Amino acid sequence: MKDHVKVAVRKVLTNYLEQNKRRKTPERFAVLDAIFDFPSYFSLQNLSDELEERHFPVSKATLYNTINLLLELRLVISHRVGGETRYEAAYDSVGHCRQICTICGKVTAVKSPAIHQAVENTRLRRFRKEGFSLYIYGVCSSCQARITRQKNKKQQ
Ligand SMILES: [Zn+2]
Repeated sequence: MKDHVKVAVRKVLTNYLEQNKRRKTPERFAVLDAIFDFPSYFSLQNLSDELEERHFPVSKATLYNTINLLLELRLVISHRVGGETRYEAAYDSVGHCRQICTICGKVTAVKSPAIHQAVENTRLRRFRKEGFSLYIYGVCSSCQARITRQKNKKQQ
């Protein structure tokens, strides 16, 4: 992830912790950094392994609490994919739009100037916009093809 994004998300977390009189523990920032280095979505186990590799092992309880805090701050978003929970770093000052297959978990960027325009044109009350995320859930074409093949097999 780009450095300016990391600086921005660290600031969001710092502000929140200071405003709410919570401790700025190094663990919380290590978790945040690791999350924003994942190229795509990850599971809690992936995150735990990554922190271990960085010689920054974090207890399951701390990991769980931190991820919940980051979900609350909308710095992380969770998806249910194939019966599992996957997470993804979510911060984009420009805004992003993704399509996600709920069966295999494949995430693809969606280019839609119309959506960007619609967000741009939306009047926000007493609010300074920083960015937006839009996720479109569904089934990708390879999963659809596989499901159709399985159905056809059953009918024969
Ligand atoms: Zn799929």
